[in-house]
Amino acid sequence: MLRPDLLDAVSLLTSLPDAVVVFSENGGVRWASRTAIQLLGDGDLRNLSLSTDRVHRSDRAEVLALVEGVLSRKERVARAVWRLRRMDGTWIGLDTYLRDARDEQAIQGFVLSARPSADAVHEESGSFSPAGRFAADGYWEWELDSDRLFLSSEWLATVGWAVTDRSHTSREWFKSVHGDDRPRLMAAIRTHLQDPSARLRCEHRVLGGDGTWRWVQVCGMATRDPEGRVMTLAGTLSDVSEGKLIDRTTGLPNGLLFRDRLSHTFVAHDGELHRFGVLVLDIDRYPVVRETLGNLAGEEMLRRIARRLERTVGPGDTVARLGEARFAILLAGVRGAPDASRVVEGLHESLAEAIKVGAQDVFSTASVGIALPGPGIESPDELLRAAETAMRRARSNPDERSAYYDGEMHREAKERLELETDLRRAIAEGAFELHYQPIVDLSDGGIVGFEGLVRWRHAERGGLVPPGMFISISEETGLIVQIGRWVLREAARQLKSWIDVHPGASELVVSVNVSAREFDQADLADRVLATLDEVGLAPRQLKLEVTETAIMANPELAAATLRRLKEHGVKLALDDFGTGYSSLGYLHQMPFDDIKIDRSFVNKIQEGGQTPVIVNAIVSLAASLGMDCVAEGIETDEQWRVLKLLGCRFGQGWHFGRPEPAVRLDDALVHLPS
Ligand code: C2E
Ligand code: MG
Ligand code: MG
Repeated sequence: MLRPDLLDAVSLLTSLPDAVVVFSENGGVRWASRTAIQLLGDGDLRNLSLSTDRVHRSDRAEVLALVEGVLSRKERVARAVWRLRRMDGTWIGLDTYLRDARDEQAIQGFVLSARPSADAVHEESGSFSPAGRFAADGYWEWELDSDRLFLSSEWLATVGWAVTDRSHTSREWFKSVHGDDRPRLMAAIRTHLQDPSARLRCEHRVLGGDGTWRWVQVCGMATRDPEGRVMTLAGTLSDVSEGKLIDRTTGLPNGLLFRDRLSHTFVAHDGELHRFGVLVLDIDRYPVVRETLGNLAGEEMLRRIARRLERTVGPGDTVARLGEARFAILLAGVRGAPDASRVVEGLHESLAEAIKVGAQDVFSTASVGIALPGPGIESPDELLRAAETAMRRARSNPDERSAYYDGEMHREAKERLELETDLRRAIAEGAFELHYQPIVDLSDGGIVGFEGLVRWRHAERGGLVPPGMFISISEETGLIVQIGRWVLREAARQLKSWIDVHPGASELVVSVNVSAREFDQADLADRVLATLDEVGLAPRQLKLEVTETAIMANPELAAATLRRLKEHGVKLALDDFGTGYSSLGYLHQMPFDDIKIDRSFVNKIQEGGQTPVIVNAIVSLAASLGMDCVAEGIETDEQWRVLKLLGCRFGQGWHFGRPEPAVRLDDALVHLPS
């Protein structure tokens, strides 16, 4: 039976993406996370057995050494990459950490955490693909109290430092980390120290002994004393410089390597039309699979799709993963459109078969864009962009699963490129404005805060460009990160200056939208807190609005970021609720203060119309989770009345005020009760 304190730990572990197995001191399996049972394919905890005969013969010595090292207390944490036979006879490569938790009150045993290894494993024979396997990892251990840093000879060799016996200090380590990467590494360490469930895993550049930069991956784990105080931080360091060209999930070339190959092909075929082509594929169901079955399942699905794509195309073709669920294929031997179409048909067919993910069969389709070199396409980049444009066309038209790039799209692509160039200039010149829309208490219409909404000042594009015209391209290009930083600082600064002038503003909250790409930044929370600090605004007066889609793009990191912000008092709202992939499963784990009901539901509330079922459901859902509701897009008195009746506490919309420049709001602020 599990003790209550262990139960807490267990419920936390259940939500982890890693497979976790807890062993008792004598080695019996005491508990395993759902992910573990799925990964091992044992179907049920009762059947779970981890005996050495399930370990691949060639890995047994290594696994035994791992266990021995920990059992004998020589090491507190040890890592190994090895192959396990799943119950269905297939092999899976695992990257595991075994941690000695015999002295930890809540566990009194061992904790094994595992995730599928980046090394591809042949399903039947269990043979590893040779690339990079066991590239001797370096080991490091850092005693926090004494700041003593032990670095193994592999560590020193990986980084190219002279191998000596002396101990090092953390300063030496951090000094060698690339300045652009250091904040990320520090943030990852800090997050892990504060929240043991957050993995310490960070890729960064480090200065080698020969003066060149190399990419390494640092993984680690803190060991704590019975009071929970961190004693040491220890882990591994591996050289991933080569892996910078290989996608770790699928083992395919990444976008960088793909572009490189495409450039070579371009040069080699100079002047010849239609001797090669580029396809871009987007896997339609991936986000849904990842959300309903979890991250591991999503990755598994991508790996299986990658293998299918490779099998379908010819031996001289290159399949690469560009990002998320997007793949690209360089067709080396096509002679024009009919040839390419045949390949594309083959791809659609091979994807139409069920994909086995754990015990589940999932089905997916792909949207495919096809581009061949021709007039108007002069560079490898243009060709790839053309295929992406065609893919977007295919995706927006569900009846056509593929589309060829054509002249019409050429114009579209050109416009997009111009927009991107303009945007870069706008960022450099600071050509943005923030407008503020009041958020009111629906009981009396009193202002409780504002939502900051960005606009782009652009004379040729009609004065003020609304976000709908440029946010999505900013997200795709990553420019949103810089825009977002400006918006955050501007909003915080504005509220602070209102508070300084109007006593009634001291309790207001300013809301700022944060997009998926910004959540990719591991130091987002730190930066938000630092900005508040510089501006002098209390964290409780800032609210970040996040959409479900933004969270689902990287749920683990998003959850860690949200938790950290929440701990510091920053408020959080879930924006556009009901329009994305609804993540009810996640919702209760995310520390939101408010759920924002999307305008599309609010505008269904009409005089004499039916009871708005969805709005009603969202309000009760929010209440049951202890969150408040904010209705968006209230335009009529009737909508206000009905929302109030349904128990929705807050709202915003033209009925109360449009988004306006800060100077126009002084009037409203003067009249706030102080
Ligand atoms: P959102 O966060 O859901 O913002 C609400 C949108 O509804 C705003 O559109 C607002 O002007 C509009 N709206 C408010 N009340 C009414 C109403 O009564 N009727 C109608 N028809 N519309 C109303 P806007 O300003 O065009 O912004 C659109 C979206 O762009 C925002 O949706 C948000 O997702 C994004 N966005 C805006 N500013 C930023 C930003 O600084 N950063 C990021 N990442 N996204 C932003
Ligand atoms: Mg919003
Ligand atoms: Mg919204």
